[in-house]
Amino acid sequence: MVQTDQSQHLLEKDGRYIWHAMKPYNPKSTLIVEEAKGCWVTDHTGKKYLDAMAGLWCVNVGYGREELAEAAYEQLKKLAYFPLTQSHAPAVELGEKLNELLGDEYVIFFSNSGSEANETAFKMARQYHQQKGEHSRYKIISRYRAYHGNSMGALAATGQAQRKYKYEPLAPGFIHVAPPDCYRDNETAENPRNLKSVQAIDQVMTWELSETIAAVIMEPMITGGGVLIPPDGYMKAVKEVCEKHGALLIVDEVICGFGRTGKPFGFMHDGVKPDIITMAKGITSAYLPLSATAVRKEIYEAFKGEEEYDYFRHINTFGGNPAACALALKNLEIMEKERLFDRSREVGEQLLNELKHKLQNHPYVGDVRGRGLLIGIELVKDKATKEPLDVSLVNQAINICKNNGLLIGKNGVTVAGFNNVLTLSPPLTIESEDAAFLVQTLTGALEEIK
Ligand code: PMP
Repeated sequence: MVQTDQSQHLLEKDGRYIWHAMKPYNPKSTLIVEEAKGCWVTDHTGKKYLDAMAGLWCVNVGYGREELAEAAYEQLKKLAYFPLTQSHAPAVELGEKLNELLGDEYVIFFSNSGSEANETAFKMARQYHQQKGEHSRYKIISRYRAYHGNSMGALAATGQAQRKYKYEPLAPGFIHVAPPDCYRDNETAENPRNLKSVQAIDQVMTWELSETIAAVIMEPMITGGGVLIPPDGYMKAVKEVCEKHGALLIVDEVICGFGRTGKPFGFMHDGVKPDIITMAKGITSAYLPLSATAVRKEIYEAFKGEEEYDYFRHINTFGGNPAACALALKNLEIMEKERLFDRSREVGEQLLNELKHKLQNHPYVGDVRGRGLLIGIELVKDKATKEPLDVSLVNQAINICKNNGLLIGKNGVTVAGFNNVLTLSPPLTIESEDAAFLVQTLTGALEEIK
């Protein structure tokens, strides 16, 4: 692709002014994205890429939806902003719509990002126990490999050492346990309560003393830490353990929510009723920042005291801003009209089966797993020992895909080299010819690195 003087100039200025997330400045690999439509993004040189990474920021309805831009524009003209210490119609209507999707009665607190939604959940959980007179409950249990956000509490809940060790000490009171890893541990049990990963949570709560535990936080599937799908019944069994010890269950739906795993929310695969649910990204399909912390009605009611100190002392200035709420309502309308939750399950299943079939004999492909349109391909040096493939080879596959017009992700943790899971998460609107291009390009790249 020919680079014009103008695009070269843009890259140079980018190098001078922009601090990029998660990487050192490297002009050779910076993509300056100019526009996007459907599943395709176009860079500053005019080159097009199929975006099979979109699920990490959850552009679930695809790029370039004019209805979404119009919903925000109309709302900005009518009421650009007012804080939710008072109220406005878009927030109220979105609260009602989320209840309909959640299938139960939840009260919603709005913020702007996934990290903030989780921080809000931690504060709610701790204060909830205080309201009930249980003053020693403050500890929060989360899993190794999970990512829950960038702030001092959400990062403390994150179980990925490489993201944390340069910023410690983080917020105290967070404890990690190992997540279920069906590929490496072959974790199965007739009764999910007997799963090793469930027993671990039960034991930690017992040893730490039940009356010091405030909550457990978990994603339905660990996404950023390597696309880990739990055994059936896992979350339900964790909920039972939480109830036994008097702790709340917080489910982080920041990536899994809004159809990514083939249901409106990931927890629905296990039929549990979480105490608190956090959501972000897909709520607006990433068109505007918005996140939410949904709380069971009974928890909210514990805050309804007469005294001023009973209030939830937490505010987020721009959380639930009218334009983002209006856009979210339109986004959810599109998802329902186009049956995107079902589509994610149907297309995801086809894609997963095809990849399993095509990659079963590849020497580096240890496992192909997925739920809905969130698929992970775990690359190993040796299928017998399951030793992770060197990250340089994993990156090589990603770069070949990129050169051939396909963007894919890489997830895992750098600890012990587990940075070896290719991640596919295209918009939920992906058409069959684009899915075919994805399979062909990816399998071609994996052939090349053999
Ligand atoms: N939770 C999960 C599961 C996430 O994947 C992320 C972001 N990748 C977050 C929380 C944090 O969201 P944000 O970057 O919007 O703060």
